[in-house]
Amino acid sequence: MQYDALIIGAGVIGLSIAYHLKKACPENNVLIVEAKEDAGLGDSGKSAAAFRTFFYSRTNIALATTSVEFYKYVQEKLGYNLNMRYIGYLFLLTKRKYKDIRDVLDYISKRGLRFEIIDTDVLKKRLGVRTSISYERDSKLMGLEDIHLGVLVKEAGIMDPMKLVKFYEEQFVKLGGKILYNTKVHRLIVEPRRPLGLPNEPYPWQDVRIAGVKTSRGVFKAKKTIVATGAQAPQLLDPIGIDAHIKPKKRQIFVIEASTPPLRKLLRARNFNKENILPLTILPKGVYIRPAIEENSFWVGMSDYIGRAFMWEEEPKPELRFYFNGIYMILFKYFPQFSGAKPARAWAGFYDISLDYQPVVFEVEDLIVAAGTSGSGIMKADAIGRIVKSLYLGEKYAELYGGEKFKVKDLSLDERRVEKEKLII
Ligand SMILES: Cc1cc2nc3c(=O)[nH]c(=O)nc-3n(C[C@H](O)[C@H](O)[C@H](O)COP(=O)(O)OP(=O)(O)OC[C@H]3O[C@@H](n4cnc5c(N)ncnc54)[C@H](O)[C@@H]3O)c2cc1C
Repeated sequence: MQYDALIIGAGVIGLSIAYHLKKACPENNVLIVEAKEDAGLGDSGKSAAAFRTFFYSRTNIALATTSVEFYKYVQEKLGYNLNMRYIGYLFLLTKRKYKDIRDVLDYISKRGLRFEIIDTDVLKKRLGVRTSISYERDSKLMGLEDIHLGVLVKEAGIMDPMKLVKFYEEQFVKLGGKILYNTKVHRLIVEPRRPLGLPNEPYPWQDVRIAGVKTSRGVFKAKKTIVATGAQAPQLLDPIGIDAHIKPKKRQIFVIEASTPPLRKLLRARNFNKENILPLTILPKGVYIRPAIEENSFWVGMSDYIGRAFMWEEEPKPELRFYFNGIYMILFKYFPQFSGAKPARAWAGFYDISLDYQPVVFEVEDLIVAAGTSGSGIMKADAIGRIVKSLYLGEKYAELYGGEKFKVKDLSLDERRVEKEKLII
């Protein structure tokens, strides 16, 4: 049997694609094959699942804003709880950083997106954060600067990535889509377009296409094969000579329980949002604190770049050294509430980093690749699903949620047109 579409990977990207494809073409046979025993057990389920619609670039606004609006619709109108909470993002900025991005903030606010400046007295009072630390010897050694002010973005928050994954999975299956779990793809099958029945085809002079996959459960053929394997995309693409310009980079989250009164008070910080929860807080040097209110804890993380290899590991382990020598040193310096805090648990996953930190979506010889979400795949998954659906149908423009049109080729490699994001903090 030949499937119309075969999607590899049941993460948020593969499932969003599957749902939008099956919804647009109910008569098409769509199969997902997934190596793990359930959906979302790759990087989707390891995500901090924070989202924002406050961006500078046209690309980010289109992909993130429309996706987040769709999730809001799913939660509020369809009544499917994704645990979306608009707790906001709070950027704690040094004077230097604020100077760098002031014009960008003004530009964004002229477009009607709101943010609030919070001065250091208010920050100290509400959060107990230390804003003047630069005079201390260890701060000097570490290059830690004073916090000059806070920028609170309200159109932002957190959600439960597994609930989003389950939403797409359920809808896809309801529409008649099929998923095979515990099915690992060993390789993509390259076949001649016009087989001649000769041994060892295809020959270098033959026109070829990707005809399906060889898996742990045998061969599956398809008219279109779609790679949605996130950070593992190069493992399938490199052996057949397709370069998606994506590399895996390890990312870690450490869970700190709010086990002391000062930490509990911080978790329930008042007056930043309606729920009186600490916003997702970004400290200088990129350390972030994400409240996990359901489990009375904080998730803390940090993105390190140079010095951290691009390297895939089957079972990535969190590195306690990275917490104690990296995150903790910055965390407790600004937030003394964390003094002595040890992680109760931790996990590690991967960002699938693309050439410009934006997703990559392209087609070559009946193979579609959708990956490279670079650490923001949860907040962009719905738009990516719609764009891949349009590519599959041969449409030039995808209609994103709310009606915005997005040129499909803008995320390709050969006609790529993504706008640089200037609000990187
Ligand atoms: C620590 C961390 C924090 C993050 N925080 C955020 C955040 O705050 N906000 C945000 O928007 N994004 C965040 N992200 C990024 C986000 O999680 C990813 O962008 C997103 O999950 C990518 O989804 P995916 O479906 O492409 O990949 P995955 O979820 O990894 O799915 C790929 C699937 O393919 C399967 N697969 C791979 N190879 C094969 C094979 N050969 N055969 C069969 N199946 C295969 C895997 O098992 C997996 O299930 C974070 C990521 C990490 C690691």
